Amino acid sequence: MRLKMVIIIGAGLAGCEAAYQIAKNGIKVKLYEMKPKKYSPAHTNPNLAEIVCSNSFKSNLLTNACGLLKEELRNLDSLLIKTADEVKVPAGQALAVDREKFSESVTKKIKSMKNIEFIEEEIGDTIHLKDIIKDNIVVIATGPLTSDKLSKEIMELTRRRKNGIF
Ligand SMILES: Cc1cc2nc3c(=O)[nH]c(=O)nc-3n(C[C@H](O)[C@H](O)[C@H](O)COP(=O)(O)OP(=O)(O)OC[C@H]3O[C@@H](n4cnc5c(N)ncnc54)[C@H](O)[C@@H]3O)c2cc1C
Repeated sequence: MRLKMVIIIGAGLAGCEAAYQIAKNGIKVKLYEMKPKKYSPAHTNPNLAEIVCSNSFKSNLLTNACGLLKEELRNLDSLLIKTADEVKVPAGQALAVDREKFSESVTKKIKSMKNIEFIEEEIGDTIHLKDIIKDNIVVIATGPLTSDKLSKEIMELTRRRKNGIF
């Protein structure tokens, strides 16, 4: 049976790349993002794929692992690397970006893809993980600052206790 739809939670760096790759292969994506209704303690920009700290993607040289990985991603049509190349700023042998332009451009591309339905909602608030994972493939891409409500639901689903013992 052909896969028809994938749900992605979190439209940060990982969620946007996943959504792009899945959608361009003809599969529908529902992409949930809690911004701008709710922000993590580190996020401030309403756009997607927000770079919260350093604007450097590190080396672009093919003689080290960081540069080689980026070249492989270019060959695989990575949305993030393609966009980073478009909005790069001078940084010697590193690939560094204008973070505002980067997020703006990724947002435009993601929101213009016909296979992506973008939904501004925090999973764990009115929509719950246990309900959406019943009949769907779900990618959780909410990063290191996953909201408390969703973290709690993930812990409940994986039956993880507070002390870390299953
Ligand atoms: C303060 C800080 C500094 C960092 N500095 C660096 C650095 O310099 N270099 C580096 O490589 N990495 C750094 N990191 C790690 C950085 O977070 C990752 O490199 C990158 O952002 C991870 O991408 P991601 O897509 O996994 O998560 P994110 O980019 O954080 O995206 C997650 C998205 O999910 C959304 N979200 C969260 N919970 C929910 C929910 N319940 N429902 C819907 N949406 C939700 C968020 O709003 C966010 O847009 C830093 C992280 C933090 C917190």
